[in-house]
Amino acid sequence: MLADQDSLIDGTKLAAQVTAEVATKVAELKARGVTPGLTVVLVGDDPASAVYVGSKERTCNELGMNGETIRKPATISQDELLAIVDRLNDDPAVHGILVQMPLPKHMDSEAVLRRIRPDKDVDGFHPVNVGKLSIGEKDGFAPCTPAGVLYMLQASGVKTAGANCVVIGRSNIVGKPMASLMVQPGIDSTVTICHSRTRDLADHTRRADILIAAVGKAQMVTADMVKPGAVVIDVGMNRIPDATKKSGTRLVGDVAFDEVRGVASLITPVPGGVGKMTIAMLMSNTVRAAAQQTQ
Ligand code: NAP
Repeated sequence: MLADQDSLIDGTKLAAQVTAEVATKVAELKARGVTPGLTVVLVGDDPASAVYVGSKERTCNELGMNGETIRKPATISQDELLAIVDRLNDDPAVHGILVQMPLPKHMDSEAVLRRIRPDKDVDGFHPVNVGKLSIGEKDGFAPCTPAGVLYMLQASGVKTAGANCVVIGRSNIVGKPMASLMVQPGIDSTVTICHSRTRDLADHTRRADILIAAVGKAQMVTADMVKPGAVVIDVGMNRIPDATKKSGTRLVGDVAFDEVRGVASLITPVPGGVGKMTIAMLMSNTVRAAAQQTQ
């Protein structure tokens, strides 16, 4: 077994730990006259995005940071959006900029992400930050969800060095940066990345000491795919029908939690797992951005 005890990894508790660390850093920055500021740009009226953006703003304000949201209709042009990014890039009170994805179809998301100044790119999606993560330069920003997963593993005492880590999913938001983090010196896992074209997925997952699922397919990782004693991290967030709920749906991960729990040594629940960490890590990146920009 890689971990010390058989239990759940509590995302709510660990996220509170991160935000407490952030609060201390906010106080230190304020003592030297700097209030960390995060501006989120929300284009259109996607309901899920509106919820995420609302919690980002709320968390910022609870931590005593400046949390501003610029809301624009889906009809805004790409040039208008780029002009907003340029203004935020030049604003010394704004230390972190986040353009909420997905953008309306008429926009080139990559071009917008590339316009954000890399030292303000607290989402870690700019190619400069992707490159810094890849070569192990510590002053860049890692994407918040994978960074949150790594924090969970380390805070739970999971031994990553030499462990076989299998990541299911190769998106630029989760899978690939997750693999980059796990392989870097100091973390030292041996990493396999699986995706939809992987042959015999279970053959790979059964070799994992640390299995990270970031697929977007409800409960696809079943107990027979998991090595006994493995640490299982479930990044997935999927809505499935549930007639017992008022909304008619419930949130589940990519892992069949009830059966995998009996095989894994440690596992993250959904909800209450990785999802809780993402905003906490965004706050952490923002205070570090503020510190780096005001040294
Ligand atoms: P994504 O861009 O759709 O990527 C999914 C990945 O899974 C792709 O690489 C895809 O392979 C792979 N895949 C699909 N079906 C597969 C299969 N049957 N076997 C093996 N691999 C398969 O999704 P994402 O943005 O990375 O998000 C993944 C999940 O995490 C989603 O449920 C999302 O909601 C959740 N998420 C949660 C948080 C959080 O804060 N907790 C944050 C971000 C995302 P191909 O590349 O070959 O298509």
